[in-house]
Amino acid sequence: MAYELTETHKLIRDTARRIAREKVQPRAAQIDEEGRYPDDIFAIYRQAGLLGLTIPAAYGGGGAGFLALALTVEEISKYCSSSGLVLVLGTLSTQPIILGGSEEQKRAWLPRVAAGDIKGAFGLTEPNAGSDPAAMESRAVRDGDEYVIDGEKMFISGGNVADFVIVFAKTDPTAGPRGVSAFIVPTDSPGFSVARLDHKMGVTGVPTASLAFQGCRVPAANLIGEEGRGFATAMLTLGTCRPVVAARGLGLAEGALAYALDFARERRTFGRPILEHQAIRFMLADMATQIEAARHLVYHAAWLIDQGKYDRQYAVYFSFAKVFATEMAVKVSSDAMQILGGQGYMKDHPLERHYRDARQLMIVEGTSEIQRMIIAHAVAEGDIAYW
Ligand SMILES: Cc1cc2nc3c(=O)[nH]c(=O)nc-3n(C[C@H](O)[C@H](O)[C@H](O)COP(=O)(O)OP(=O)(O)OC[C@H]3O[C@@H](n4cnc5c(N)ncnc54)[C@H](O)[C@@H]3O)c2cc1C
Repeated sequence: MAYELTETHKLIRDTARRIAREKVQPRAAQIDEEGRYPDDIFAIYRQAGLLGLTIPAAYGGGGAGFLALALTVEEISKYCSSSGLVLVLGTLSTQPIILGGSEEQKRAWLPRVAAGDIKGAFGLTEPNAGSDPAAMESRAVRDGDEYVIDGEKMFISGGNVADFVIVFAKTDPTAGPRGVSAFIVPTDSPGFSVARLDHKMGVTGVPTASLAFQGCRVPAANLIGEEGRGFATAMLTLGTCRPVVAARGLGLAEGALAYALDFARERRTFGRPILEHQAIRFMLADMATQIEAARHLVYHAAWLIDQGKYDRQYAVYFSFAKVFATEMAVKVSSDAMQILGGQGYMKDHPLERHYRDARQLMIVEGTSEIQRMIIAHAVAEGDIAYW
């Protein structure tokens, strides 16, 4: 149960902190306003070697692990949640290959992602299958040396800028979750298209897309693992990425608190800075307490993954981190806005953006309700013992 930051962790965190302050902070409001993928920020990550932190060194990555990624995402998300998500997507799209792919697939895809030559996206959700992905309707049928994929994926983060998408489709529609297979689908494959971009509330710097697969042909060699293993790969991938989504919430909350604190020192009411009013001080105390609690859940969960502890029995720790840190981010960003009074509601300050961005986190990669289902199962089954 003991995690500790190594010198490497601290070095990576300090690099991320510098990039966050010097490069991301000045761009954050503009990224939100433009609603376009921030290629300039991606290029900065590439130069700093931050794109392959969870990709093993043997495949061109940094091999630094999930705690290193969580620390990096936390620093960046203090200023810009979209730029934090850019980093998460690199892991979300490569974990299926790392966890379930062949040696050839790892050699073919991972080094290029780590080098920033290509980007990936993760395509699980469909119009009729979100929390219940086994209900997916996409089909993949083998045809000689190829698979032909038909279906639709929706809300796919970065789907419009991706060079490849990890696509989950049923190869055996009668077999439930065991009939789901995973494929690496290059976005220049025949039959692939971006059908629509969504208009969304926050995290606008990483557009979400509906993707259409109409007789989309990929080489049979792009099947990840064996037929029928896709659902397990998807669940493991989502599990390992949850602490990193949680790290986005942690960083976002820290950024919101720091901003509100600076404001509270300057803003005066009734003849003194609002920081001297007990109501404000207690709000800040609660915010800080929640942040520190989230930090331990997030770091611990990420550290577990780095110890190779990420199979089903550890899923509850990833859910603890995800549900607590993301709901905390919504509460803390709301309280931070409150401390600014009317100013907090205005776009002159970043807090309304933080609030909008935080809200996304309770929905993606398993909603809060799904996390509670996982936790409740672990509690009810005695996997977590309190006696
Ligand atoms: C901004 C954004 C980015 C996203 N990026 C991606 C991406 O990159 N790739 C991808 O594949 N998907 C992505 N998603 C999709 C996301 O993972 C789904 O939206 C999420 O899993 C919920 O699915 P749903 O929207 O279909 O809601 P539903 O599954 O329809 O759920 C609706 C509501 O019912 C609740 N609910 C459902 N089942 C139960 C139950 N058994 N018990 C209690 N409550 C339940 C849910 O918690 C929710 O509150 C993204 C979504 C958003 C908003």
